[in-house]
Amino acid sequence: MRIVIKVGTSTLTHKTGRLNIRRVEGLVKVFSDLKNAGHQLVLVSSGAIGLGVGKLNLPGRPADMPTKQAAAAVGQCEMMYTYDQLFARYNHVAAQVLLTGEDVREPHRRANLENTLTRLLELNAVPIVNENDAVATDEVGVETTIGENDTLSAVVASLVKADLLIILSDIDGLYTADPRKDASARLIPVVMEVTAEIEALAGGTGSALASGGMATKLKAAKIAREAGCDMVIANGQKEEQLYDIAAGVPVGTRFLGRRTAKSE
Ligand code: GLU
Repeated sequence: MRIVIKVGTSTLTHKTGRLNIRRVEGLVKVFSDLKNAGHQLVLVSSGAIGLGVGKLNLPGRPADMPTKQAAAAVGQCEMMYTYDQLFARYNHVAAQVLLTGEDVREPHRRANLENTLTRLLELNAVPIVNENDAVATDEVGVETTIGENDTLSAVVASLVKADLLIILSDIDGLYTADPRKDASARLIPVVMEVTAEIEALAGGTGSALASGGMATKLKAAKIAREAGCDMVIANGQKEEQLYDIAAGVPVGTRFLGRRTAKSE
């Protein structure tokens, strides 16, 4: 299978912004093993800004754009250094792909990007994609960014015609209510379609349920669905579950891709 996996900042870093070494080592070990089993992987990894904040010893996430972009430039470097080292440990090759909104919106650039990613997969490398936060900015009044990596991961999944998109989050999946506040909250194992009812469960961005950003994950699920790609939201703290997800065992919440999309 061709699998796109989105790793978020909260999975990769401690609250301090410093690298969560145990977590990232565990994840890359499983990613490498999935590759050894014959799967193709693309990672969409956040963490550039978070790691930059940690490395520059900034007091918190910067509010101003230049500092945010500077932090991203520093953190992206540390992030790729870490992935490169860890994948090399298991004899795999990491490749950095940084892009902006224009690269996925403008048809010519989108086609180039698709070619690069496809070629990297043919060469057996692991493309590690992130937004080029050091240059992408919406502050100049032009929309150049994608904005967040849930959407980016779904765009990448549709670009490479992935069979599966896995979004690693800090909760187990989509619940009927906020599991941190409501003991009767149940995990929803399968979502056939992102209806208004499902969207209501996520609330707006910033709701307690959406601390992992559930609203953007549902947006990603819609993009993946149209591309005929299943999407699973699972807990990034339980990396061993990735084996089950790849094997089709029910884990987290699975959003079914439109079945006819791929044959069109
Ligand atoms: N591109 C951002 C970063 O690497 C993260 C965007 C997101 O978390 O969705 O820090």
